[in-house]
Amino acid sequence: MTNLRIPGPTPCADEALQEMSRQMINHRGPEFGAMLQRITAGVKKVFETKNDVFILTTSGTGAMETAVVNFLSPGDRVLVVSIGAFGDRFADIAQTFGADVTKLSFDWGTAADPAKLDQALSEGQGYKAMLVTHNETSTGVTNPLAELAAVGRKHDVLVIVDAVSSLSAVPCRVDAWDLDVVVTGSQKGWMVPPALAMISVSDRAWKAYDAAKMPRYYFDVGKAKKYLETNQTPWTPAISVFFALDVALEIMLAEGLENIFARHERVGKLTREGVKALGLEVLADERFASNTVSAVKVPQGVDGKALVKLMREEYDTVLAGGQASLAGKIFRIGHLGLVTEKDITDCLAALKLALPRVGFAPASV
Ligand SMILES: *Cc1c(COP(=O)(O)O)cnc(C)c1O
Repeated sequence: MTNLRIPGPTPCADEALQEMSRQMINHRGPEFGAMLQRITAGVKKVFETKNDVFILTTSGTGAMETAVVNFLSPGDRVLVVSIGAFGDRFADIAQTFGADVTKLSFDWGTAADPAKLDQALSEGQGYKAMLVTHNETSTGVTNPLAELAAVGRKHDVLVIVDAVSSLSAVPCRVDAWDLDVVVTGSQKGWMVPPALAMISVSDRAWKAYDAAKMPRYYFDVGKAKKYLETNQTPWTPAISVFFALDVALEIMLAEGLENIFARHERVGKLTREGVKALGLEVLADERFASNTVSAVKVPQGVDGKALVKLMREEYDTVLAGGQASLAGKIFRIGHLGLVTEKDITDCLAALKLALPRVGFAPASV
């Protein structure tokens, strides 16, 4: 079977996939309503929050747009903390809808520094919100989100988080860290196909919502809230993926959140130690290396694209390449969602065979 080792879409449990072959139901009827209530309650548990949570039919980027347009007005000053391609995307979205964006960028491969964030928020008066990526999928770095959020709190800005490739796989404790708006997507850590995204909204964020003037229609969380009161979604949802999520949540909650986090810690460490044992280098600052995706530097003289192609064609292992300025310079191994140690050892064994064929002699360990 193909070893799909990209940071989303990730492999899905058979039980979840089977649910997707079920006949359609009325999305305004009682069966869907009961499922929506059950799933919303389950998602809240995974978000570790008492805040409102909504399930949207869209991909992660749609949820990022939702997180921007509902709480801000054109001209609002926004600080975007960017450590890679997804941080840059958050800035683009905010700019597109007219926010006055200042970007606080850090070198790709490093995490954001809370002291520099503190300084930036002190110097630029009048910030309304900070946008931050929890886990930067393009570089394999997990930001110290609890610390960054605490700095945001201190400066009384809305803390808006892209947790698309972290939440449900590594700790993202929405209430304990007092995060205002948090988004994630079904095809990353949730073991469900793409099409659904989740968003949490704090009381502070609802106050901002009341004053926010950016244009919004499909992604209006006020409509989502109103419809949820009648056990519905405002628009036709991806019902089949709801079926899958219903089952995936059962599997996740049976395993237990802390066990899920521990499993990701194990596979993350196994991946990093494995590639290092082959003589390769991880891009991320070791202290902030992600437990959901590893970015590995393509060794000198090796064609990164040829390696990814060889792994796919002859070892049935699908890796991700680099994005933006990292294209050809890194390859990425996804290890989130339905992932076991064996998936990683298989991937490492394939790499060990493939590397000499693209001109790199792996270390003999
Ligand atoms: C995958 C991802 C997204 C959203 O991607 P979609 O393709 O729109 O689902 C956003 N942020 C991060 C950090 C991601 O990993």
